[in-house]
Amino acid sequence: MTATPQDTASQDTASTQPGAAFPDTGTPAADLLAKIRADRPGDIDWKHGKAFSLVYNVDDPELDGLLCEVAHEFLHENALNPLRYKTLLAMEMEVIAAATTLFGAPEMSGSLSSGGTESIFLAVYTAREHGSDRGIATPNVVTATTAHPAFNKACHYLGVEQRRVPHGPDGRADVEAMLAAADANTVMLVGSAPCYPFGVIDPITDLAAAADAAGYLCHVDACLGGWLLPFWQRIGREVPPWDFRVEGVTSLSADIHKYGYCFKGVSTISYRDPDLAKKQVFWFEDWPGGLYASGTAAGTRPGPPIAGAWAVINHLGVEGYSRLARRVAAAADGFRAAIESVDGLGITSNPEMSVWEFGLTEDSDLDLGALAASMDARGWALDAQPGGLHLMLSPGHDKVVDQFAEDLAWAAAADTIATNSAVPYGSVVGLSDS
Ligand SMILES: *Cc1c(COP(=O)(O)O)cnc(C)c1O
Repeated sequence: MTATPQDTASQDTASTQPGAAFPDTGTPAADLLAKIRADRPGDIDWKHGKAFSLVYNVDDPELDGLLCEVAHEFLHENALNPLRYKTLLAMEMEVIAAATTLFGAPEMSGSLSSGGTESIFLAVYTAREHGSDRGIATPNVVTATTAHPAFNKACHYLGVEQRRVPHGPDGRADVEAMLAAADANTVMLVGSAPCYPFGVIDPITDLAAAADAAGYLCHVDACLGGWLLPFWQRIGREVPPWDFRVEGVTSLSADIHKYGYCFKGVSTISYRDPDLAKKQVFWFEDWPGGLYASGTAAGTRPGPPIAGAWAVINHLGVEGYSRLARRVAAAADGFRAAIESVDGLGITSNPEMSVWEFGLTEDSDLDLGALAASMDARGWALDAQPGGLHLMLSPGHDKVVDQFAEDLAWAAAADTIATNSAVPYGSVVGLSDS
């Protein structure tokens, strides 16, 4: 359809009306940058270590500089067709190979995705297809209630039923109850290593053995722990078995943009069996544009996350990741001690890693909402969830341990509670994210 002169005129008028969102004229780059930078003070200041969960602060200028350079280098490249950009393809293969080694998979298989949600989507899709090949038309996936909402989302998108089973009293998946919820239409059991809300690792050995015996797939969601736990163990921390070294684990998601310390947009989905991984690939031949094949949910795939993941892995190596794990451990120990030294505060369950919930002990006379508000007043941005406050420690938190201890003790003091108790606690549930 061609535009009549009248159409053009009305479009012109529309674009100059008050409130029109599309700019009429361009703005010089320097002015835009100045504007963005002037607006930034309204954002959370994570660089000083008072924010959690959404940013993994390494506090290492050399790594940050490398990531900026690499992102710049591949700013416009597209990894949709891997044969067009062979450097990106080689980098992606090396990252998948690194993940294979790290997670103890017997063979190299899987892919890079845009994040944990996409990795989980792919795992659920693969399980659905695997079930379909076995005649299961109405598949279900069994998870604990602590499993990340990405499973709810994937099941919703993919027409798979999710059976959510209450976790045990220790916050971990209840394998017996999960088995009881499973049936002939179950395609996969899911465990987390660790789960986001409590930071505890589900009993993967039991879960995977049960899945194996019943003929179900078993996915481990290590989005959070995948790139930290191997080094956590290496620096001497107790880590229960959670990866492909556990018999019966068939797929595993792990986010490089969390404790892998890359910028956002990169995660790994790995499989024990390359034949299972093949079910992930989508082929379409009957298109005037030719064969269209794609291994993940995305079409166009940005180059920077792939190049960034490759760069950070090669820059840090086992040694660098272990060094950062030590800093995370120091921060976690310090924050834990600070919480436990306040009368009336306690950590939920017994988390293995650097992520947990803390809240009021049974006999506590503290007001958690007031405490959170007092911490806010001192610049902290603690995440709230139904049972308490949530903390996730990064390497950059090692330098604010003393300040956290001091501010928490101050916030817990009765007089500060009296002045801040107007803030309702729990009203921001749903805003906390990983
Ligand atoms: C972050 C997270 C996810 C989802 O990952 P996104 O990168 O946010 O899409 C899934 N599972 C767990 C345990 C997570 O912490």
